[in-house]
Amino acid sequence: MNTQIVKIEKVEEHISDIRNAASIIKNGGLVVIPTETVYGLGGDGTNPQSSKKIYEAKGRPSDNPLIIHIAHSADAEKYAHTCELYYDLAKAFMPGPLTVILPKKDIIPKETTGGLDTVAVRCPSHPVAHAVIECAGVPISAPSANISGRPSATSAEYVVEDFYGRVDMIIDGGACEIGLESTIVMIKNDGEKKSLVLLRPGAITYDALCCVCEYVEISPTLEGTLKEDEHPLSPGMKYKHYAPSSPLVLLDGEDDAVLNFLISEQKSKNCAIICYDEETKYLEDKLLLPIGAKNDLRSHGKMIFARLRQCDRLSPEIIYAHLPDKSGLGLALYNRMIRAAAHTVLKIEKDDFMKGV
Ligand code: AMP
Ligand code: MG
Repeated sequence: MNTQIVKIEKVEEHISDIRNAASIIKNGGLVVIPTETVYGLGGDGTNPQSSKKIYEAKGRPSDNPLIIHIAHSADAEKYAHTCELYYDLAKAFMPGPLTVILPKKDIIPKETTGGLDTVAVRCPSHPVAHAVIECAGVPISAPSANISGRPSATSAEYVVEDFYGRVDMIIDGGACEIGLESTIVMIKNDGEKKSLVLLRPGAITYDALCCVCEYVEISPTLEGTLKEDEHPLSPGMKYKHYAPSSPLVLLDGEDDAVLNFLISEQKSKNCAIICYDEETKYLEDKLLLPIGAKNDLRSHGKMIFARLRQCDRLSPEIIYAHLPDKSGLGLALYNRMIRAAAHTVLKIEKDDFMKGV
């Protein structure tokens, strides 16, 4: 397949490209679009054939549901049964990195929702995504634009790596602002009381959700893998998440103890280190992958998937990274990293290290 690659910085200077992308989608084709979270592999969410093509191109199991992207939060009405809490969330967080799961209407085929009666709805804030959806006049179903099992793509370079020749068009909109997939919530209706279940953490944090809804439950499956007999609320959770080809070990300990451990490991191993900017001056410059200042969680979110992809290119013996703290945006980072590391956490005790561990 011939893949067109188009670079768009300003929407108003590329109206014909936007129209072209929208018409490919309306005609059942696939276009990769930039969003503020990660790149999305877009097709017409109302067309079962388009959804089948998305699963095929991604190599994704067809019971792992897709998120539909809409131009305006009120458009959810056309595709799903909304409620007051949906509009409270929309007022607070849309357009933006929040996905809400709602009972679906018939216009959304089960091929899009992985056979479910619910549909995941998101209204992205990225101007290019917004323009393509608006121009197409259909909801765009768009899972993350990565081959299943690889880290989400946060720049066009990685999209091209995975999808050149597999889609009709790739829109290069530069690096994604957030770099982590959207927060996903499900609205639960227990009679009078409406509550939310947080299924996937993202840039809209647990605390931010609590400001809008009194009852926010964190899905028990969020931190890890499912047990045999557990039924996932979010189907995506049952699939193996990305793991780099070299083992990734998360280090849990005080900053100076972790740094001393890393200095010593660099002497004996060919290790890649995903570190904070402040640490680079103490470490050797080989296979060093900084992700921003220690307290700059936004930078960590923006860079982490690209760093994991780089690790696959470098093929180190082992990869080390800090275990993210679970507060604020940290919960989203923790969730991605703990899965990528297959739960491998090494506790670094100051005393142990002094003893030469
Ligand atoms: P991605 O498109 O790769 O960001 O992932 C989409 C994820 O959203 C899926 O893997 C599911 O975990 C979740 N999801 C989408 N639709 C639903 C739904 N109807 N019910 C529950 N979870 C959903
Ligand atoms: Mg994904």
